[in-house]
Amino acid sequence: MAVQSELAGQPVIILKEGTTRSRGRDAQYSNLMASMIIAETVKSSLGPKGMDKMLVDSFGDVTITNDGATILDEMEIQHPVAKMMVEVAKAQDNEVGDGTTTVVVLAGELLQKAQDLINKDVHPTLILDGYRKATDKALEYLEKIGITVKPLDKETLKKVATTSLSGKVVAEEKEFLSDLAVKAVLQVAGESDGGYKVDIDDIKIQKKAGEAITDTKLIQGIVVDKEIVHPGMPKRVEKAKITLIDCALEMEKTEFTSKLDIENPDQMKAFLEEEEKILEDMANKVVKSGATVLFCQKGIDDLAQHHLARSGILSARRVKKSDMEKLSKATGGRVVTNIDDLTTKDLGFAMLVEERKIADEKWIFVEGCKNPKAVTLLIRGGTERTADEVERSIHDALMVVKDVVQEPKIVAGGGAPEEELAHRVRDWAQKLSGKEQLAAQAFAEALEVVPTALSENAGLDPIDILVELRAQHDNGKLWSGVNVLSGKVEDMNKLGVYEPMAVKKQILKSASEAAAMILKIDDVIASSKLRETKGPEKGPSGAEEET
Ligand code: ADP
Ligand code: MG
Repeated sequence: MAVQSELAGQPVIILKEGTTRSRGRDAQYSNLMASMIIAETVKSSLGPKGMDKMLVDSFGDVTITNDGATILDEMEIQHPVAKMMVEVAKAQDNEVGDGTTTVVVLAGELLQKAQDLINKDVHPTLILDGYRKATDKALEYLEKIGITVKPLDKETLKKVATTSLSGKVVAEEKEFLSDLAVKAVLQVAGESDGGYKVDIDDIKIQKKAGEAITDTKLIQGIVVDKEIVHPGMPKRVEKAKITLIDCALEMEKTEFTSKLDIENPDQMKAFLEEEEKILEDMANKVVKSGATVLFCQKGIDDLAQHHLARSGILSARRVKKSDMEKLSKATGGRVVTNIDDLTTKDLGFAMLVEERKIADEKWIFVEGCKNPKAVTLLIRGGTERTADEVERSIHDALMVVKDVVQEPKIVAGGGAPEEELAHRVRDWAQKLSGKEQLAAQAFAEALEVVPTALSENAGLDPIDILVELRAQHDNGKLWSGVNVLSGKVEDMNKLGVYEPMAVKKQILKSASEAAAMILKIDDVIASSKLRETKGPEKGPSGAEEET
């Protein structure tokens, strides 16, 4: 192996024992292979007619999904290059929230085409150059064909959300869920620099298995997964004035152990009375502010609870910091750090604060806030698995709506933009020379994997469809794509199958980047894994590979 070489009969040891190394074509071949296998795995789940995957983890827990990022994440992949493909899907998910399957499938196809070229003796560097130029061109064309829309147009946004949901396990309810997603995003959207900005974290997702998907609700406020702290407090407060406090309503504990000398019962009594008075004072400050509801980020002492209950203040303690921030955005209240500073002006408002039982838990609902800048989606679904998939799907829907609100540009789907870009890139590639042209053409062909996979998954003949698609795009039919529901090539723009420009752009960029990164590797040097202590029976001819 390459670990040592001979120099005048003397071995020169460079790498640690146990290190494996593969280089040149060997390394490339195995890397391309690994990436293509990953792409192949998720390909069958692309599009509305894609299949689902059942994933069983090492604890036996089952996930059923067709979300590219989730599939790859749960697969616990070992191969370092295959892991890079997983990273691509994850990055796509974080950036734009959709197109995770497509980006992996496209990267895989780019590598497949690259391998064909390598087999024809085209050097990877030339392929890289060709791909890079083709990507830039494709992005430029994409920008040209994009349709500009109004950022707050509900109809368009709903269509975008519906498209993203149509491939999901929960697609039956896509109209219903899209509507919720659009309402939620528009509620929290804020103006910025002449456009709009959405922080997806302002939409709290609170999930509980049970009931049906259609019982999923958008709440104009926050659902806090805490119980009311004291049984004597009201369970329901209308027109609530809400105070938010992030300090403890408890006696301060000293840093170090202190000693108190008490010599007689009177002193003890006085001491306890003093403590009680301080706690009562704290509770009174809340009462005096006019609050009827209290959310405290820290603890509330039993005595303080008692006083609050007597004054009829609905209170919850140990509320998460993130929830305190959302409560503040939803109710318009200020989070107060020092209870002495608390005034009426700091209070937030909600039409109703109520503790409700959701399945086996009690949660506090803060609803009917005035123009809240944070809202909650209360997700329901028959079983744990359904609720999980609803959460994943609604995440995609929220993200695509956000994408369009922030960058109000869309394209039609069904492989139409990919086919159009393939067409234009092919035309442009004519001008390139020799091998670069081959690479650019390979890039164009790779783009066609999207309509091909969509038709394959719908049980259609991909060759027939591709021939038809190419002919229509030759005739200038920009938005001809595969309508997988009718099984025909149709105008996807007329059908209203829309996707965000941001998603398509990110797919092109990330897939090319990943392909380039993988193509550039010609040497893999891997240190031996840290050996696990398995048991005593491991002999000298143990399982370790020889170097
Ligand atoms: P991804 O994880 O990449 O978003 P999806 O399974 O969501 O993968 O599939 C997305 C693809 O499905 C896109 O190319 C989109 O245009 C296409 N698509 C969505 N709805 C339709 C439809 N009704 N007809 C044809 N293609 C569709
Ligand atoms: Mg999708």
